[in-house]
Amino acid sequence: MKVIIDQVRDYNLEELKEFFKNFLKECEFFLKSKSILLKPNLLQASPPEKAITTHPVFIEACIIAVKELNPECSIYIGDSPGANFINYEIVLKTTGIMDAAKKYNVEIVKFEKYAPKKINDFIITSFVDKVDCILNLAKLKTHSLTGLTLCVKNLFGLVPGTNKVGYHKKYPDSSKLAENIYQIYEIVKDKTLSFLDGILAHEGEGPSRGKPVKLGIVGASVHAEALDMVITNVLGFPVDFCKTNLVLLRKGINLQDVEIEGKIDNIPKIRVPISTKVVFLPNWFKRWFAEHISVKPEIDKNSCIKCFLCYKSCPVNAINKIDGFFLEIDKDKCIECFCCYEVCESDAINLKRSLLHKVIAK
Ligand code: SF4
Ligand code: SF4
Repeated sequence: MKVIIDQVRDYNLEELKEFFKNFLKECEFFLKSKSILLKPNLLQASPPEKAITTHPVFIEACIIAVKELNPECSIYIGDSPGANFINYEIVLKTTGIMDAAKKYNVEIVKFEKYAPKKINDFIITSFVDKVDCILNLAKLKTHSLTGLTLCVKNLFGLVPGTNKVGYHKKYPDSSKLAENIYQIYEIVKDKTLSFLDGILAHEGEGPSRGKPVKLGIVGASVHAEALDMVITNVLGFPVDFCKTNLVLLRKGINLQDVEIEGKIDNIPKIRVPISTKVVFLPNWFKRWFAEHISVKPEIDKNSCIKCFLCYKSCPVNAINKIDGFFLEIDKDKCIECFCCYEVCESDAINLKRSLLHKVIAK
């Protein structure tokens, strides 16, 4: 498994185009593809400078590279931003993707318009069958549930609309959820090439409530899983910090199995979400105190604009409407999946640590 990593100064269109071209010109199946899907991270309607979504210049550079190397192919851009898919137009405009697509005459697709297809236990958009190749354009971010969200996790966006909520309900344990996201990657891996936008990354309370951090990292690989392992290591974390890497570790695959081309130096230690801070306790003690070690969401009524995106995203109906309008979280029902936190665009949901979590979580 080979991975290419590099450091760039900024979102320089020309430099990024060369990065994409150098990688893509070696990929025979890409060069023969007649239809190509660009799959960025479009989690929510937020501007590029917040580093929640794949940067539009990164996407533009990819489009130009594709057009120069494979001028006859049809190019599409698509993602499914969870419960936010109903506001897809606003997401596309705010993130700058709409302008990038129009500029290069690229068609935008809405996955929810295509019949969902069921493979084993997974529902993904059938649009994946219409393309020969997927260019996975992931954003480097921390993640409250999975530690990091990189290339494998980005393909969770192939699950249309609120079907993602069902996965959170079925797999409330973050490691199990991550393993199942990995299975989604396996469905499309033979036609997927992965790229990582870590130029302006997202640290702290990711994937949407943290802060942008300039890292200058870019990466590319035929193997999304290998690129994820390498980047987790480059950031100074143990490989298992990124939960989607767990499947590989269980298979006995680790960093020694990856050939790395390029070098990344002097990356500052990035801040992690409070929910991922490790609790070091003996098992008997952990079990006894489990219910007191929690990180629960809380709605800030002054900032809430009553868009009800959180209400629609909760997999276990732990968010109740009071008098049909005000929202309240039932903390006993809450499984700490942080879907509500992730989807809120008004920064109106805060995470509250229990006292014991504050005392013992490092
Ligand atoms: S908490 Fe956020 S997502 Fe929920 S209704 Fe209020 S603004 Fe919308
Ligand atoms: S309230 Fe929020 S964190 Fe709790 S289960 Fe519902 S969506 Fe998940």
